[in-house]
Amino acid sequence: MAHQVRRTSARLADGREIIYFDDETETRSPRPDERPLGARAEAGEMRFDALTGEWVAVASHRQNRTFLPPPDECPLCPTGRGSVPSEVPDPAYDVVVFENRFPSFSEGAADLDSPVPEPLFATAPARGRCEVVCFTSDHSGQFAQLPPARVETVLEAWVDRTTELSRLPGVDYVFCFENRGPEIGVTLHHPHGQIYAYPYVPARSRAMLERAREHRATTGRLLGSDVLAAEVAAGSRLVLESEHWTAYAPYASRWPVEVHLVPNRAVPDLPALTAQERADFATVYPQLLRRLDRFHVAPTAVDGDATIPLPYIAGWHQAPVNVGREDWRLSMQITSILRAPGKLKYLAGSESGVGGWVTDVAPEAVAARLRELVDA
Ligand SMILES: [Zn+2]
Repeated sequence: MAHQVRRTSARLADGREIIYFDDETETRSPRPDERPLGARAEAGEMRFDALTGEWVAVASHRQNRTFLPPPDECPLCPTGRGSVPSEVPDPAYDVVVFENRFPSFSEGAADLDSPVPEPLFATAPARGRCEVVCFTSDHSGQFAQLPPARVETVLEAWVDRTTELSRLPGVDYVFCFENRGPEIGVTLHHPHGQIYAYPYVPARSRAMLERAREHRATTGRLLGSDVLAAEVAAGSRLVLESEHWTAYAPYASRWPVEVHLVPNRAVPDLPALTAQERADFATVYPQLLRRLDRFHVAPTAVDGDATIPLPYIAGWHQAPVNVGREDWRLSMQITSILRAPGKLKYLAGSESGVGGWVTDVAPEAVAARLRELVDA
């Protein structure tokens, strides 16, 4: 039977949408948001980089966003738990999604004052949507420790948002992701992720789509399926396999730790996953995260807990909204900048300057280490 989730939509004081996804909380009549928020912040403009063909969103208001507030002022905890009202007016929630207070993209991004057609200085309103997903109301929790039923609820929220955001006018790409750890600039410790609905297909997704189309043109086959079959056949980079999912360290990993988790069946995006695939993900993904949290061992640990919570970025690479669905295969890509305890990989000259990736970690060694770390 499919996982049951109740969805309740409401509005915050400044008009932003908030959506509760409940699997346990029995009744929900959303409380009003009584904060004096004033007018909502809208996104600004995008500028087109004529040299690279990439859009850049200019979000100068984000400089004022919340930066590591004290724990009793967490904006993602339910209201009533801390000393000030939070972004979530209700006193309890299971999973909740709301529009970002300081968005890089928003539906209300204003039309430009003077949209002068200027080929080298092209500009467009940064129209789209940015949302925050709270994975749990437990401030000190983490995704890896969520019970499978709650992971399924998070997945249902991602599916719902992918479907809804894809319907917004002008949205070309929906990216659901989690940034975890202060090492990568996370400004709030509460377990949460974000969803960006872009009015264009971002550069890396565009490159992936072009590769998939070339592969289709030359072989007649789906690139993602061929890569998965090749990784399974090679075996040396496999991390784990379940009935519906496979995780591997990709052949050309760019980061010190990089793992792709893909469904065994070819699907373009999250809404295409079956109930069985969703339920299996809810078990497999936290297992994978728990292994990642034991990847590095603290050098000072004599005995007991030597874990170093791995800073990571985990993101769903879904098919673009309007193009390439038939050529795309869904993948969850998890990457970390932590190459050794206390040592971060910085994107320096070669990577930042020209996108020339250099890695000193063999993906085969990453996979071998992760295969050892089965749950105790
Ligand atoms: Zn919190």
